[in-house]
Amino acid sequence: MMVQYAKPRGTADILPDQVADWRAIEDEARRLFAIYHYREIRTPIFEHTEVFLRGVGDTTDIVQKEMYTFMDRGDRSLTLRPEGTAGVVRAYVEEKLYGVANTQKFYYFGPMFRYEKPQAGRYRQFHQYGIEVIGSSDPRVDAEVIGLGDHFLRQLGIDTFTLHLNSVGCPVCRASHKAHLIEHLQPIRNELCKDCQSRFEKNPLRILDCKIDHDHPVVMSAPTITDALCDDCAHQFATVQTYLDEMGITYEIDKTMVRGLDYYTQTAFEFKEGSIGAISTILAGGRYNGLIHELGGPELPGIGFAGGVERLLLARAARQETVQAKDQVDVVVVAMGDSAMNASVRVLHELRKAHITADVDYYGRGVKGQLKLADRLSARYVVLIGDDEVSTQSVSVRDLSTREQVLVEQHRVVNYLLERVTNGQSEI
Ligand SMILES: [Zn+2]
Ligand SMILES: [Zn+2]
Repeated sequence: MMVQYAKPRGTADILPDQVADWRAIEDEARRLFAIYHYREIRTPIFEHTEVFLRGVGDTTDIVQKEMYTFMDRGDRSLTLRPEGTAGVVRAYVEEKLYGVANTQKFYYFGPMFRYEKPQAGRYRQFHQYGIEVIGSSDPRVDAEVIGLGDHFLRQLGIDTFTLHLNSVGCPVCRASHKAHLIEHLQPIRNELCKDCQSRFEKNPLRILDCKIDHDHPVVMSAPTITDALCDDCAHQFATVQTYLDEMGITYEIDKTMVRGLDYYTQTAFEFKEGSIGAISTILAGGRYNGLIHELGGPELPGIGFAGGVERLLLARAARQETVQAKDQVDVVVVAMGDSAMNASVRVLHELRKAHITADVDYYGRGVKGQLKLADRLSARYVVLIGDDEVSTQSVSVRDLSTREQVLVEQHRVVNYLLERVTNGQSEI
C-alpha cells in the first residue's frame, strides 16, 4: 500500500505561485533596511539551548512551553531558534563585533520555530524579519528603529495600524515598582492562574500580560511602570516622543505594555493591525539594554524589532496587495522529429547561457502540443527546429505577437534573440 505523507502540523508549503508574494516582502525589506544602513546577518537555525534560556528568559512561555529542544548525537542540548534576537546578540558577542564599531546595525530573515497551537497566521515553523541596533542608547536610535518599522509597513501598503508606545523603565525604577505591584496584587494572589502564582514574587510584571489574568479588575488597576519611571528613563521616553513627533509619526502611549524580563528596558512598541482578526500585533520591538551582558558580552545597550512574514501576508491579502506570480519564459524551443533533438538541446543550453529565459516540452508532445506550452508560458518567441532546419544548420524563429517567422543560422540565434528579448535577465 502507498503511504501518503503529510507535512508536519503547523508548517506550510510555499508553492511557486505564492513565492512572488513572499519575495515582494523580502525585496522591500532588503531595499529599505539598506537605505537605513542596516546590514544582513545570518546566524544558525539552532543554537545551544542555554542561549535561549538566557536570551529569551527561562520564565517566558516561549522557553517553558514552546521550544523545539533536542539532544544531538553528542549529547548537547540544542534548540531550533524561537526568535531572532538571541542568536544575533550571541554572534555579536562571540565574534567581538563591539571591537569593530561603536554602533552596529543588523537585519535578518529566516524561519523560526515554536510549538504553538496553529491558527490563521500562526505556524510552528514561521518566518520573521527583524533589525537590531547594538551599542547606543541615544534616543535617536529608538526613533530610527520605530520610524523604520512604520516606513516598512507603509511601503507594503499596510497603513491602518496603530503604533503603541511605552517605556518599561530600567532595573532602578523597576525595583520600587515591583514592590508596589506585589503589594497591590497580594489580596488576589490565590485567584491567579498557576503560572502567575509561581512567578508571583520573582516576576509579578508578567501577571499584567498573562493571557488568563490580564483582565482581572485588580490586575487592570495595578500601578504602571510608566508612572514610576526614574529621571533617566523619563527623560529618554520624553525625548523619543519628541523625535517621533519631529518625524511625523503618530503613536499612542500604552501603559499596559510590559516586558517581563530585566534586560528589556525603556522603549517598547507594537504596531497593531485590525484587519487580520484576533492576532493583531504585526511588528513589535523595544530596547534590551541588559541582554548583551546577559549573554556574556560587555555592558552595551541594544534595541530592535521583529515581525512575522505570514502576518504581513495576511494583512496584505486583506487589502488585496498580492503580487501576481508569473509562470513565464521568453522563448520555447520546439523540436520536430528525432533529428532535431541534438540541435534543440544545444540551442536551448546556449540561450540560457546568454540569460534568455527559455524552456522546452519534456512530454514528447507533437508540434501542436509544444506550441500550446509556448502559449501557456506566454513566450514571446518560439524557436522551431525540424528536418529542414537541421539540414541547413538553421532554426526558424517565430514572433508570437506578430506571427512573423524568419530563418536564422543556428550560430546566430542567440544574438538574434538577445537583441529582441530586452528583459531576458529580469527573473534572474
Ligand atoms: Zn529607570
Ligand atoms: Zn496568569
